[in-house]
Amino acid sequence: MSLLPPAIDRSTLGLHSLEHYAPLIGAATAERIERKADRVRMMQVAHISSTFYGGGVTEILTPLTLMMNAMGIETDWHLVQGTPGFFACTKKLHNALQGQELEFSEQEKAIYEEVVFENATRLHLEKCDAVIVHDPQPLPLVRHFAEREMPWLWQCHVDLSSPHPPVWDYLRGFVEPYDAAIFSLPEYGQGLGTDQRFMTPAIDPFSPKNAELSEQEIGETLKYHRIPTDRPLVTQISRFDRWKDPIGVIEARRKARRQVDCTLVLVGNNASDDPEGHVILETIKRSIDDRVIVLAVDDPILVNALQRHSAVVLQKSTREGFGLTVTEAMWKGAAVIGGDVGGIRHQITDGKNGFLVSTVDQAADRMVQLLNDPQLRRRLGARAKESVREKFLMSRLLEDWLDLLVRYERPVCQ
Ligand code: UDP
Repeated sequence: MSLLPPAIDRSTLGLHSLEHYAPLIGAATAERIERKADRVRMMQVAHISSTFYGGGVTEILTPLTLMMNAMGIETDWHLVQGTPGFFACTKKLHNALQGQELEFSEQEKAIYEEVVFENATRLHLEKCDAVIVHDPQPLPLVRHFAEREMPWLWQCHVDLSSPHPPVWDYLRGFVEPYDAAIFSLPEYGQGLGTDQRFMTPAIDPFSPKNAELSEQEIGETLKYHRIPTDRPLVTQISRFDRWKDPIGVIEARRKARRQVDCTLVLVGNNASDDPEGHVILETIKRSIDDRVIVLAVDDPILVNALQRHSAVVLQKSTREGFGLTVTEAMWKGAAVIGGDVGGIRHQITDGKNGFLVSTVDQAADRMVQLLNDPQLRRRLGARAKESVREKFLMSRLLEDWLDLLVRYERPVCQ
């Protein structure tokens, strides 16, 4: 059974050339980016991450690698493969980088390093002009390419505002051999003996998840997933992950419901490199009451329809590297309530284009306020869309990459 209702027009999906961005960013900006690309068009670049499925890195690399290829930069995307034991270790590293105090044992270090070594033996990157490694899973790869001539860059997508010191000290030894470390925000910068750069993530406005949908398509999609629309919807779309605070969302809605009724929808997929998701999902299922819908599905059109239809979109994270779900919802003109953390702070200016909250009570109060005030929702949503257009479209991220890659461009021998 197809996940897409029949009315969706696929012909408008999947546009990856810069010219499609010109109406959104202006012809002059598109031309400037094209000119920058001239300097690096002959480069060969390889990205390495740990999953093609689920999570923000996949969301970024899918359009970015296609756009880079569309510009003439030969861009590959490799995966590191691993056992469940390996991904259990790397999830621990992810949690520790986001500040959880945990012990990473010598045995776990051995599993982590051994699996990365195995992956290194399968990678043949001699022809590349630059290698870009994403997040902690493939981080130690660089050690096995000591003879490399091309730059190796590590891009870290997690909230690194207060990493657990013993784990960060361990990982730092793998970061320093890189030619540069790239973080999502300046406040994630660390005292490192290597170059540090900053790039905020971005979204693809033409992907199935973000492209325009008609009212009919939205209605059919919600109906298909049996989401009732008789009351206003409050939605959070996130991997089932403790840092996204789904239990806090359920609690906030419980409090808000004493004053205004709504249906809460929690949608989550599970990244293949995230072994904790099913545990969190079970905890959520034990916490829900009536009019709370929990869907574990992977359907970008559903995400799109929900972000467009919901009266309120929540992202009540307690740590958030950036928060693409916030960007996506803001792009659709949604009224967003976000946790006052990490990248969400860089997207939402409290009271101007959304609301920032730090507690369950604050989330509940803002929910009530927004559910009672459609004009406020429209005002915040309109500004939200404009701020994404200005700062967080994929064309801007592409330009950031061109600016960085040009530093490593090798002159062509005549
Ligand atoms: N996502 C999705 N379906 C889900 C949950 C998440 O497609 O059920 C997508 C979401 O739309 C966003 C990405 O996964 O594009 C999550 O990125 P974000 O930066 O918000 O969080 P991360 O998962 O990287 O921590």
